[in-house]
Amino acid sequence: LNTYIVVHYGEIGIKGKNRPFFERHLEYNIHQALQAKVIQLKRLNQRLLVEVDATHIEEAKNSIEKTLGVAWYAIVESIDLSYEQIRNAALRAIKSKPITSSTTFKISARRSNKDFLINSIELAKKLGDDIRRELNLAVNLSNPEITIYIDILSDRAIVYCEKVRGQGGLPVGVSGRVMHLFSGGIDSPVAAWLMMKRGCIPILIHFYVAPDAASILKTKIIHITKKLSEHGGKMLLLLIPFSPYQIATTSISQDHEPVVFRHFMNIVAEHLARRFHALAISTGDNLAQVASQTLSNIACIDAGCSTPILRPLLGFDKNEIVELSKRIGTYESSIEMYKDCCSIISRHPKTKLKIEHVAYYSKQLNFDELAEKCISQGSIVIYNPLDEHLSLAPLHNYQNSS
Ligand code: ATP
Ligand code: MG
Repeated sequence: LNTYIVVHYGEIGIKGKNRPFFERHLEYNIHQALQAKVIQLKRLNQRLLVEVDATHIEEAKNSIEKTLGVAWYAIVESIDLSYEQIRNAALRAIKSKPITSSTTFKISARRSNKDFLINSIELAKKLGDDIRRELNLAVNLSNPEITIYIDILSDRAIVYCEKVRGQGGLPVGVSGRVMHLFSGGIDSPVAAWLMMKRGCIPILIHFYVAPDAASILKTKIIHITKKLSEHGGKMLLLLIPFSPYQIATTSISQDHEPVVFRHFMNIVAEHLARRFHALAISTGDNLAQVASQTLSNIACIDAGCSTPILRPLLGFDKNEIVELSKRIGTYESSIEMYKDCCSIISRHPKTKLKIEHVAYYSKQLNFDELAEKCISQGSIVIYNPLDEHLSLAPLHNYQNSS
């Protein structure tokens, strides 16, 4: 037995000439997320109709709920364009809900196919009357307990009574790539998700202190990457060793180090952005949450970078970030113990470093060359949720196809 799910997209609907481009991305992303569970996926009058085997319905709902760009979805009955069939489906829909003699309902009918001879107002009235008589229930147009939705489409009618909210946003991919500085803390995974929510594909960059990249494969860095792939599909994670930087920068005074290192991470991300055809860098920074994130330190961190640096968490309170990380499922992994490079550099940075200091170190220690050195020792992890395959390879071997 097959079940149908109708998927509505909010914002894409207003994208004018770009709409087909957005729709194609959403269609592709849903297809990827549902994999073999999809029997058929059709684009119909500004919505998608997904046909799945009834035994897979829970998994399908779960995947659609995580797919960015979905405004809402509903499990529907898909029937022929006949009043009799619509009436019977509407009765089945309302009977699937717990109803008592005091339950109220209304019919909400929409007709995008004007060839269907009954218009939406007449249809709602006629159907409302039939159901009221048949089940002895009262109609309440302003505040009904149950709304039965009828959509008259070009080749069929669909009937449902429960809309489920999706994540909203835009389909991953429509906005292009960003290089995302990814620490595995609570903030940076949420920031990556927010970038995805606006259509970006984040390529994760993680600086590690472990002796080799292979040992990162057993850590929360991978657990979180896999979690993010549930929302964004295939993930690329670049592992960059911290040690070349550490060895070259022993002269930096301790209270300057956190800000200077963050500046260095930006330079590495900028170099990688060119290689991966990304137009921006994103981070999990939040304004003034910690000493390295004061506005004046952010100005130092960004000084001299010509690539836009996006900080989607800037306006969030910590508790809002924690809430979001629980919702997207990264929180549990984020709080696992892990030795991050930021934890081995000073925890007490100056809250107001001077831009000249950063510029001095950057020139004196030749950060551009040092960035290339770190990158040349970097690795790339590719995780594909379709077959759950994880690969690790030297970054310099990677042929980028964008
Ligand atoms: P998070 O929870 O993301 O670690 P945080 O509040 O702990 O954030 P910081 O540790 O100061 O803040 O990091 C600020 C941002 O710098 C991170 O969100 C991330 O974008 C970047 N960052 C920090 N450490 C690393 C790292 N090891 N590799 C890559 N990026 C990092
Ligand atoms: Mg951190």
